[in-house]
Amino acid sequence: MTQMRLSGLLTALLIPASLGAQVSVQCNCDPARPETMKQRQCSLCNEAEKQPAGIPHFVLKDINPRKPNRWLVLPRNHKEGAHPLHEMSQEDRTALWTAAIHKAKELFGDDWALAYNGDRVRTQCHTHIHIGRFIKEIEMDNFVVVDGPSDIPVPEQGGVWVHPVNGKLHVHTGEELVETVLLR
Ligand SMILES: [Zn+2]
Ligand SMILES: [Zn+2]
Ligand SMILES: [Zn+2]
Repeated sequence: MTQMRLSGLLTALLIPASLGAQVSVQCNCDPARPETMKQRQCSLCNEAEKQPAGIPHFVLKDINPRKPNRWLVLPRNHKEGAHPLHEMSQEDRTALWTAAIHKAKELFGDDWALAYNGDRVRTQCHTHIHIGRFIKEIEMDNFVVVDGPSDIPVPEQGGVWVHPVNGKLHVHTGEELVETVLLR
């Protein structure tokens, strides 16, 4: 497959935020009531509950065998409903992005990207940021440049993807399904 075809194919997989299907992770799970945690979309909540109490976040390898190059970073604590990233405090969110970048560099050097899918396409309620190798051919122009994790804007709608460029970060927004910028 040529690079151009690959790029076109991958771009087509990014769903604009405005066109995303109207399904979001509606969840009423509550770790204090185990019977509410049995749905498939809560499996990452259950992973969080297996972690030691009091840690801020943790890292998991993506268990999907079709995504052997993927990792996830997740907060230990739960939020209500779809656990959206914008509902975390600025401090906690910055710590989560920082941990994600640390792990990403360890795994992929300078070739990493992070991806947070929008609520409408997420299939797991618990907040999670995907870590992977950036598919460079996919680069798009819907970004802002920021200095570091504390400056990453998180919209209330849609996904976010982040990758390093010349010591700064590109933050791309405007699509729902964004984990497709990462090598599976
Ligand atoms: Zn849930
Ligand atoms: Zn949860
Ligand atoms: Zn970029």
